[in-house]
Amino acid sequence: MIKFLDIQKINAQYKNELLETFTRVLDSGWYIMGNELKEFEIQFASYCGTKHAIGVANGLDALILIIRAYKEMGWFQEGDEILVPSNTYIASILAISANNLIPILIEPNLETFNMNSSLIESKITSRTKAILPVHLYGQLCDMVVIDTIAKKHNLKVIEDCAQAHGAILKNKKAGNWGDAAGFSFYPGKNLGALGDGGAITTNDDELAACIRALLNYGSHVKYQNLYKGINSRLDELQAAMLTVKLKKLDLETKTKRNIANRYLNEIVNSKISLPEVKENLAHVWHLFVIRTVKRDDLHNYLKDKGIQTVIHYPIPPHKQEAYKEWNNLSFPISEQIHNEVLSLPLSAVLSFEEVETIIRALNEY
Ligand SMILES: *Cc1c(COP(=O)(O)O)cnc(C)c1O
Repeated sequence: MIKFLDIQKINAQYKNELLETFTRVLDSGWYIMGNELKEFEIQFASYCGTKHAIGVANGLDALILIIRAYKEMGWFQEGDEILVPSNTYIASILAISANNLIPILIEPNLETFNMNSSLIESKITSRTKAILPVHLYGQLCDMVVIDTIAKKHNLKVIEDCAQAHGAILKNKKAGNWGDAAGFSFYPGKNLGALGDGGAITTNDDELAACIRALLNYGSHVKYQNLYKGINSRLDELQAAMLTVKLKKLDLETKTKRNIANRYLNEIVNSKISLPEVKENLAHVWHLFVIRTVKRDDLHNYLKDKGIQTVIHYPIPPHKQEAYKEWNNLSFPISEQIHNEVLSLPLSAVLSFEEVETIIRALNEY
């Protein structure tokens, strides 16, 4: 069977280096807030081109902490509105709700799956304080337009980069476009830890200092607490593993981009719509997502051929139990996307023959 994502095989490529690193951290006797975290933060900030990178416990916390910090700094009040895509993974929206701000959903573009930037301005009210673009499936949003709108209306831009590590648009990386950005290092993400992990990038010194206190019980100096903070730290082991894997990220992305280009060039079937790519480097292919009208039929057909596929995501946020208050709202493009999408296997350890098998099966469908 061709697995959707063989994480074991991905990490096995680096087994010796990861084991040496594990031993180093084990023997150091220092497991929280030490040199491994410092080193990873320096490397990741340098990779993204930002002044700061701050390790946190996971991607959801990264987004929650950015919004929380802007509240502490007086930029956001409870009840303020943040514009967010209607077809994102639920975490982007939960981060807004968790801070008692109001998520305002914006329909995506059917071809790129990203927030339709031409709809943003019509949703801005006197309570709108930020735009939270999500670089879904690994492709950067229309950041030039989003930036311009944000400046015009004095809004913060908070990027959800959980799927877009290393994506580049106009020589600028994901995580360096907005005022701040949240990353996830969930094991299946482009840069995956061996457990949970996340980071925040920003060029804003004041924001960075506030977040560093918030993630550590609200404490800026040991046993002194500025805020009613939380505990959301990236531990030494995960930071050390991530430093190893960060060095491999660009090579893995290049391999994935080659496979994605094969899919784009060689899948020819009028029943299947391929994703639209704005710029070659702007997409890092966290997921290769196709659309088809009889999605479940295609999923089962591929399964019978030994090809595992996954749906990202089957239920849109406004149809979730958790957001009952939105269940009657209509977001037709999002609903269409959720009904039609199917993610193909795509990773740096997929062989030439496996890719061939997948393309042939799709063309014969
Ligand atoms: C994975 C993901 C998150 C959350 O990251 P976790 O590390 O799992 O908390 C947030 N937003 C998007 C778009 C994601 O894909």
